[in-house]
Amino acid sequence: MLGQMMHRPLSIIEILKFASDNHRNAEIVSVRTEGDIHRYSYSDAYKRVAQLAHALDRLGVKQGDRVATLAWNGYRHFELYYAISGMGAVCHTINPRLSAEQMTYITHHADDRVIFADTTFVPILNALSAQLPQGMKIVVMTDRDHMPASDLDLLCYEDLIADCPDTYDWPELDENTACGLCYTSGTTGNPKGALYSHRSTVLHALSLCISLGRFVQEGTRILPVVPLFHVNAWGLPYGAPLAGASLVFPGGALDGPSVFKLMDDEGVNSAWGVPTVWLGLQGEINKNGRIPRGFSSVVIGGSAAPRAMIQRFEEAGVSVCHAWGMTEMSPVGTHGILPKAQQDTLSLTERLDLQQFQGRRVFGVDLKITDDAGTPLPHDGVAAGELFVRGNAVVSGYFNNPDASAASMDAEGWFGTGDIASIRPDGFLMIQDRAKDLIKSGGEWISSIDLENVVMSHPDVANCAVIAVPHPKWDERPLLIIVPAGEKRVTKDEIDTLLLKHLARWQLPDAIEFVTELPLTATGKVSKLTLRQTFANYQLPDMG
Ligand code: ADP
Repeated sequence: MLGQMMHRPLSIIEILKFASDNHRNAEIVSVRTEGDIHRYSYSDAYKRVAQLAHALDRLGVKQGDRVATLAWNGYRHFELYYAISGMGAVCHTINPRLSAEQMTYITHHADDRVIFADTTFVPILNALSAQLPQGMKIVVMTDRDHMPASDLDLLCYEDLIADCPDTYDWPELDENTACGLCYTSGTTGNPKGALYSHRSTVLHALSLCISLGRFVQEGTRILPVVPLFHVNAWGLPYGAPLAGASLVFPGGALDGPSVFKLMDDEGVNSAWGVPTVWLGLQGEINKNGRIPRGFSSVVIGGSAAPRAMIQRFEEAGVSVCHAWGMTEMSPVGTHGILPKAQQDTLSLTERLDLQQFQGRRVFGVDLKITDDAGTPLPHDGVAAGELFVRGNAVVSGYFNNPDASAASMDAEGWFGTGDIASIRPDGFLMIQDRAKDLIKSGGEWISSIDLENVVMSHPDVANCAVIAVPHPKWDERPLLIIVPAGEKRVTKDEIDTLLLKHLARWQLPDAIEFVTELPLTATGKVSKLTLRQTFANYQLPDMG
């Protein structure tokens, strides 16, 4: 027997309408490419989103069309998220750090009709102009006074919306209608597109507000350093308006001093981003001898949060949530906010023992780990295998890519993450490594994350990465690459002594190399692929 309830389709624009009606004291603050700070309310945003939807109509955008963005975190980008999806088109966020070749590939693969770009990125479009899809319109996200010079036929965002009505008759869409498209950065092969729906996005936002509710609350001021151009800024453009939290968008200045100053000026309570950004902020906190005003929580994800980084934040009075997820999961899969009883009673060391892992699943995500034959492994905190996920905000395949879709799903319809993990009986996920980053030594696995975690706790180490180097006898052995914190170079003996407190001797790196900085991927993570290429012919000491 079926229930007898109304079916109201889940719709993204309803989130902003809700915030506009109910959260009148929350604001959106943006560092603008024009150089100043812009602030307005969700109600103001809702009106401009209506104007923008009219402008999209005038540009000829139809339901189902892909409209691209190439922009930092700011209010106009936020408006595009809502206007494009609200009218039934698909907001395709492009990562500006992708290579020219990848960008050309995805604009064609997505068949983008219009692209909205920040002034900062117009040079990229100038350089790519011959390769861009025929007839693609380019809108620059600024006002007439700030329009850049270019040989391209550029439209101006503020001109386009200026005389449009500030209400729009939003269409009632099937909740499974596509709303957003985000390509993974494609460390191997071409980028693959995750195509989100209104339903998946709204459910993900609700789940974020519940699972990370202690950080996403009415009145909280949140800084998404995680970009709108990748992984939906971890769902914050939807979760924050739902909960009534304010958003502080940092624009393009993501270095430690800029982030510290913005947080201080704007009284940011909760900051969200990848570990590399927090290394910069922690440096600035050290320099100033204090944390930014009002700073009380940080979400760290995208790659493993080093235990030493978590400890420094916790000791400074900033609660850490170590989260895990993927583009293909909208993206949040697990979160490390501790159960209240543990948060209140555990010692710092005991808390860190838990927080270094990736936390518990959010509602709507199921986790399983399997062996090589696909047999499920127990959640006993010991057995490790490939992590598969299932849920209503998880992809069922990739956009227009049957081969990649088939390769990523198992026979029961679970999505293979490519991560190797264990799951504890209390539900805590322990990511050991990406399968391709594990070091295969003599038939055993060594986790690069485990080694990095310990090495990062050494005071003379600013950052580090461990990669596999081919070895004639052991297949692969670990090479440790260190960015020193100052002049002093830590010795191999010192590192070995430190590591031996936590790991077995055969897991220790065979050699150390020093570099001034680590290469980053388009999403701001350490690029192990680049490091493996750089050190492909590396001679370890015992290889003769
Ligand atoms: P990409 O980095 O390829 O652009 P994503 O941003 O979707 O794509 O990255 C997802 C991957 O990032 C995960 O499969 C996992 O390997 C890694 N990752 C994300 N969060 C964490 C975390 N907290 N700890 C360890 N690895 C993480």
